[in-house]
Amino acid sequence: MSDLPPVDSEYLLKLLINLLNTPSPTGFAGNAIEVVAQTLKDFPFLSPSLTRKGALVFTWDVSSSDSPRALTAHADTLGAMVKEIKCNGRLKLTKIGGYAWNTVEGEGCTVFTSQGEAIRGSILLTKASGHVHGSQVNDLKRNDDNMEVRLDARTMGADETRDLGIQVGDFVAFDPRVEVVNGFIRSRHLDDKACVACILAAINALHTAGLQPSQATTFHISNYEEVGHGAASGFPGNLAELIAVDMAAVGEGQTSDEFHATLGVKDSGGPYHHGLNQKLRKLAEEHQIPYKVDIYPYYRSDGEAYWRAGGDVAVALVGPGVDASHNYERTHQEALIATTQWLVAYLLS
Ligand SMILES: [Zn+2]
Repeated sequence: MSDLPPVDSEYLLKLLINLLNTPSPTGFAGNAIEVVAQTLKDFPFLSPSLTRKGALVFTWDVSSSDSPRALTAHADTLGAMVKEIKCNGRLKLTKIGGYAWNTVEGEGCTVFTSQGEAIRGSILLTKASGHVHGSQVNDLKRNDDNMEVRLDARTMGADETRDLGIQVGDFVAFDPRVEVVNGFIRSRHLDDKACVACILAAINALHTAGLQPSQATTFHISNYEEVGHGAASGFPGNLAELIAVDMAAVGEGQTSDEFHATLGVKDSGGPYHHGLNQKLRKLAEEHQIPYKVDIYPYYRSDGEAYWRAGGDVAVALVGPGVDASHNYERTHQEALIATTQWLVAYLLS
């Protein structure tokens, strides 16, 4: 049996659902960052602050700080911005982050105007109706030109849409459609809100058990990961180790699944730090944490972002298996608990 302090799965799930239902496309992630800041009020010994870029950073100070550590996860998500207001009153979008248009086709969305209004709509193919366009519904390439937002407001032209307060540059968030069934959590943007919730649940587990990390640890909730430079800054200069907590990609040829935590040992940025990986494997074995080791062919993390920005630290990548990543995602509570246990074991080690 594991000797780790227990993880409160209800705490984790409640926070996760709250985060998932808080729209936060990259560049507009402030509300999700605020949800985390509010949650931290339960831990008065932590004093969070925002970096100038908008990441939330806080350090759990303890007496040992000869090898300071950090955990990072990102609160920003995929999304879009208004690129053009079309003459039919609909919106052409530009993507935020890397995904294919077909993964959001038919999805509900919200346009956030610069005046603070939220206007609902749907992401559709420009030739959406099979009765009108026949085989073009199948054949039309899903690209920026062939996708549009149909607004749930009376508008037939660009001026009417502008009168709604919509402008080029407004942020667009996709509906997460959160559903919890049989321990599965199905939602968009589990990447990476699942891991933000795991980090907070790990802090909660330690605090509830009256424990502390063995080393001073900085927690970094990043807000620009989906565009590649989230955690490029915001860490103390004397940092020794960084764990990027981000989802593991599940699919054909992958070892990752929705019931395990995964150690990602290599991705598009190359191998992570072997020494830190070994330490994490040892911890997982020691505490009987269900884990896998995997390699992601098309993937980058905030750990790599810090390395590329010049961070001279050991970096590893850990996270729950997420099916259909950057699509309508799904994971299981078991993977979230395993990931949180692993973070707890690391913090105590
Ligand atoms: Zn991610």
